[in-house]
Amino acid sequence: MAEERRPLTTTDAGIPAPSDEHSLTAGPDGPILLQDHYLIQKMAQFNRERVPERVVHAKGAGAHGYFECSEDVSQWTKAKFLQKGKRTDVFVRFSTVAGELGSADTVRDPRGFAIKFYTEDGNYDLVGNNTPVFFIRDPQKFQDFIHSQKRRADNGLRDNNMQWDFWTLSPESAHQVTFLFSDRGTPRTYRNMNGYGSHTFTWVNAKGEAFYVKYHFKTDQGIRNFTDAEAKAMAGEDPDYHRRDLWETLARGGEASWTLQMQIMPVAQAAGYRFNPFDLTKVWPHEDYPPVVIGRMVLNRNPENFFAEVEQAAFEPSNMVPGIEPSPDKMLLGRLFSYPDTHRYRIGANYLQLPINRPQAPVHSYNRDGTMRYANPGDPVYAPNSSGGPAAAPERYGERYHLRVAGQLTRSPYTMHAEDDDFVQPRALYQKALSQTDREHLVSNIVNHVKQGVTDEVKARVIEYWRQVDGDLGKRVASGLGIRGRRDASVGAKRLV
Ligand code: NDP
Repeated sequence: MAEERRPLTTTDAGIPAPSDEHSLTAGPDGPILLQDHYLIQKMAQFNRERVPERVVHAKGAGAHGYFECSEDVSQWTKAKFLQKGKRTDVFVRFSTVAGELGSADTVRDPRGFAIKFYTEDGNYDLVGNNTPVFFIRDPQKFQDFIHSQKRRADNGLRDNNMQWDFWTLSPESAHQVTFLFSDRGTPRTYRNMNGYGSHTFTWVNAKGEAFYVKYHFKTDQGIRNFTDAEAKAMAGEDPDYHRRDLWETLARGGEASWTLQMQIMPVAQAAGYRFNPFDLTKVWPHEDYPPVVIGRMVLNRNPENFFAEVEQAAFEPSNMVPGIEPSPDKMLLGRLFSYPDTHRYRIGANYLQLPINRPQAPVHSYNRDGTMRYANPGDPVYAPNSSGGPAAAPERYGERYHLRVAGQLTRSPYTMHAEDDDFVQPRALYQKALSQTDREHLVSNIVNHVKQGVTDEVKARVIEYWRQVDGDLGKRVASGLGIRGRRDASVGAKRLV
């Protein structure tokens, strides 16, 4: 660029900078002066470049695109972005869970699959994973679970013993741990994996009728996974492999897409269903609720600024638009609080004004002021008021689906349904869905992991855990570890606890 056409460097206040290279000193060899405001601004700003990384899902990548609803789903929901033919902008962030900001993309871990729909009724955030279930079913255990997957207090190291100790003492984890140690725990790219809303949500139609639903975003690129060895090799070769793959695909003008299929359960069927439909460790078998295609999501545009868009993106399951409501899923209800709380801590109270989080719908709230407030509402500053300020319309936008709840305060497991058992669904996954090769890889993936640093006592529980999933699987894990399972090893109660 010709010298005269280059923009001038300025301070952040827009004042032309005195130099890109030299500090202000008393003579060429003299001390630096406090009046070098530009130098001090650069140093001070640099010291503040990092916001805290996410406690979970720190390492990720994101892309823009759209969701298009292809079917008439008005019988189940009145959500405006789910009208046939409607196209809605989305921003999607994929991530690993346990690793820190600089960790390798291809490590064994579930993957986050978070979608922000910029709808005309405000932002709808669906914050799911690449697995349809989760390790636990009560948010009381979430912090402990994550601590067991992260680092020890004494030496700052990750510890396989801690992981298996927690899992084998929490038998409800078996379904998700089976997914994790199958090759789906090491997806080849973010494009080659499915996304699941995982929780049960409620859809409500214009008549106020409610349906329990589950979201399945099926990859149009096909499922492709790394083997354990390939994933480990790639972690060394290119720790940013997944981020690079997504970026380069879109930079070349390519796209990635997913077909959205829904499972839909009339509310009246929930009480008598063979599994508790709100238990996040369970799927609804397809034969019970066959998935229905309703649309397609396409990613076609890279972010222009990684920090501003991917790092500052704030997804929160509490962002639900009219026509979509929570269900009694305890994990979902816990997350409704936890996500906005973490954003306030991580990127500030006014995070919803950051461009990536700002809704396309107009905002007329009475919230105001606070750190880094950008757009501030004027008068009136309160509701109700007689000066023409915004007014809610509860008859149109109040919760439509009124779940009838009654019960004594308690700290209890979920109500048990006829077939509720912690091992029945991982058993179905192992016996019905996994191929012979998948099963072999599952065994070797488990054995390779347990061989590293797991005590004999926990190993015995590991074998019992897998024996309860499938007798032969337990035997194969035991033989891979070169030990026989102790019959007295306990993996906790078999039923819901
Ligand atoms: P189905 O035979 O109807 O479906 C099995 C499903 O398993 C497939 O549709 C596929 O789901 C998934 N699957 C296939 N291969 C693998 C694999 N290698 N690793 C992980 N998942 C795989 O059976 P059910 O609906 O009765 O479910 C049986 C088991 O399948 C469940 O216990 C659960 O573990 C697993 N599963 C079930 C899902 C559900 O929502 N019902 C979703 C995913 C897994 P997909 O097309 O979503 O990849």
